[in-house]
Amino acid sequence: MAEEYKPGEEVEHSGIYIVLHYLDHAPAHEVTCVYGSKFPECADCGDKAKFVLIYTAQDVASNAHFSTFRSHTCTAERAEARTGGSTHTAALTPQTKQQMRNARKQLFAARRSARQPHDVTMVQLIANPDSFDGEFIRVIGFLRLQFEGNVLYLHREDYERSILGNGIWVDVTSEGWKQDHMLDSKYVVIEGVFSSTSRGHMGAWSGSITNIRRAEVWFPAQLSEPH
Ligand SMILES: [Zn+2]
Repeated sequence: MAEEYKPGEEVEHSGIYIVLHYLDHAPAHEVTCVYGSKFPECADCGDKAKFVLIYTAQDVASNAHFSTFRSHTCTAERAEARTGGSTHTAALTPQTKQQMRNARKQLFAARRSARQPHDVTMVQLIANPDSFDGEFIRVIGFLRLQFEGNVLYLHREDYERSILGNGIWVDVTSEGWKQDHMLDSKYVVIEGVFSSTSRGHMGAWSGSITNIRRAEVWFPAQLSEPH
């Protein structure tokens, strides 16, 4: 099944698409396209824009639970409704997958420039580092600043027990980094760019955070530490 569409083609699956503009005249971005309509032309690059399906999501008007939302629903759309939404990534060719990885990086870059960090948890980063590679993120963890390891851990105990896989390297040389001594051995909130390929000293950690914009103690100590 073709997963890449051009302006003028019929939308066969309602869902979220990444738009790739011709010669990258605009950063890649996500749009919703609804079954039965046609992929539109870009005002700038016309029919040279490409739409790549990333996730099918049924139009609410054709969902059985919301069928009164719109009276007109064509037969084919009902057929689509029965199959429900699903990811299509398994059916993608390596070429398209690579294209989507590139598009995702473009999206992350766009969000970075908009200064909107993506809120994630340590668990998300550790479990699925590749899907956050290059993204501007905000995450909370337990920070240890040491000679050979400036590391953000899922929990304090992960540091105490040397469970390195639950840690992410932190690049404290970033320009936005301040107040080292204030942040050590505290739960902190950090905003920066995540890398799944750079894994710090000895490559022992689950990734790293660079280009740090913000690093602050996450909660008043008296609330997070029992006396
Ligand atoms: Zn365009």
